[in-house]
Amino acid sequence: MYVEETINKYEKYINPAQAKLFRFMGLDSVEAEASGWIIKDSNGKEFIDCLGGYGMFALGHRHPKVVEAVEQALHTMPMCGKVLFNRQMADLAEALADITPGALQYSFFVNSGTEAVEGCLKVARLATKRTNFVAAKNAFHGKTMGSLTATGRDLYRDPFKPLLSGFTHVEYGDADALAAAVDENTAAVILEPIQGEGGIIVPPAGYLAKAKEICQAKGALLIADEVQTGMGRTGKWFGVDHEGVEPDLMACAKALGGGVMPIGAIIGTPDAWKGLIEAPFLHTSTFGGNQLACAAGVAAIKVMKEENLLERGSEAGAYLKAGLEKIAAEFPSVITEVRGRGMMIGIELTKEGAGGMLMSLMIMKNIIVAYTLNNPKVIRMEPPLIMPKEVIDHVLEAFRDAVAQTADVIEDL
Ligand code: PLP
Repeated sequence: MYVEETINKYEKYINPAQAKLFRFMGLDSVEAEASGWIIKDSNGKEFIDCLGGYGMFALGHRHPKVVEAVEQALHTMPMCGKVLFNRQMADLAEALADITPGALQYSFFVNSGTEAVEGCLKVARLATKRTNFVAAKNAFHGKTMGSLTATGRDLYRDPFKPLLSGFTHVEYGDADALAAAVDENTAAVILEPIQGEGGIIVPPAGYLAKAKEICQAKGALLIADEVQTGMGRTGKWFGVDHEGVEPDLMACAKALGGGVMPIGAIIGTPDAWKGLIEAPFLHTSTFGGNQLACAAGVAAIKVMKEENLLERGSEAGAYLKAGLEKIAAEFPSVITEVRGRGMMIGIELTKEGAGGMLMSLMIMKNIIVAYTLNNPKVIRMEPPLIMPKEVIDHVLEAFRDAVAQTADVIEDL
């Protein structure tokens, strides 16, 4: 009963087109409860979550240790009074300084990925007293004005112009193009270690290290947008760790809240933080750093370590990718390439229309996957790092069936 009511309210009060699209995809129920890699809907139907909330559910849904930590904060001091010291925030900042590379040390907490990116842009201008930024074409950094300016897709940008000034976009993965674009006015270069929404694009080996060198040579900062690649998604704590690169600023969010609380962080080196140390109230947030979210972050990092999730995620990801590569070899008319690292995998299709079809077929088989926001030709899988082999086997079997069905009609798509 409440299902129809909820969908009607979406149509009336949220967005009728979105409600229609969900129905069209076969999503006509309400999510009711979730645990681990399973989302149960209002009809009691269970879905395997291979999308992981766009990369948020590294620990799966409702990890009991994260829930417990949040409950404790809930019953003591859920929101920060902002005047006295806040223990959970201090603990999380320390934990992040411990797991992030190089000299990254100071954290400022926010509530989302886009806010973390906005903060990095502001801190970079403050630290360097320069105005300009270089970002990558096809990048996705969020949809508030600053991060949207850094985002490299016109579809999302054009309706909101004029955006911020001083941004240049260069080809992702092309170090020469980057070197040519960075000059003495560049405050920072902002890059995703793997482009997520752009279609799970892994840059050529050495690209990130070269980007750091270019920044250093020109006195610009390197901002790593680890909103999606961070917190173990790629098999290491952060995407830059695959190349031993030490950014000056890092944006982190999504899985940082353990899949239980929304939280983002701007993390910086002492050099990058200079301006904020001189004037700590130049950047503030009412909700940012609240105890509920920080307690979730501390618990999430602890669980990652205790349950050895970097190694588990990396092994599970390699297993899933190998299975998908086999399917790709069997159906070249549908899949051109499988790529990614750890549990961040993209499946490039031969035709854009195949993305919607595969997504619908998988949903009919009770498995949630989606295409990437910038690139509908790429289906992405970002399951919880804890997903066991038997479940991955089941996902692969279902995916093979869906691809076989798509192959039968690929000419008409
Ligand atoms: N940066 C990257 C790399 C992302 O993938 C995303 C979201 O997908 C964002 C920033 C924006 O995060 P949020 O949706 O929490 O604002």
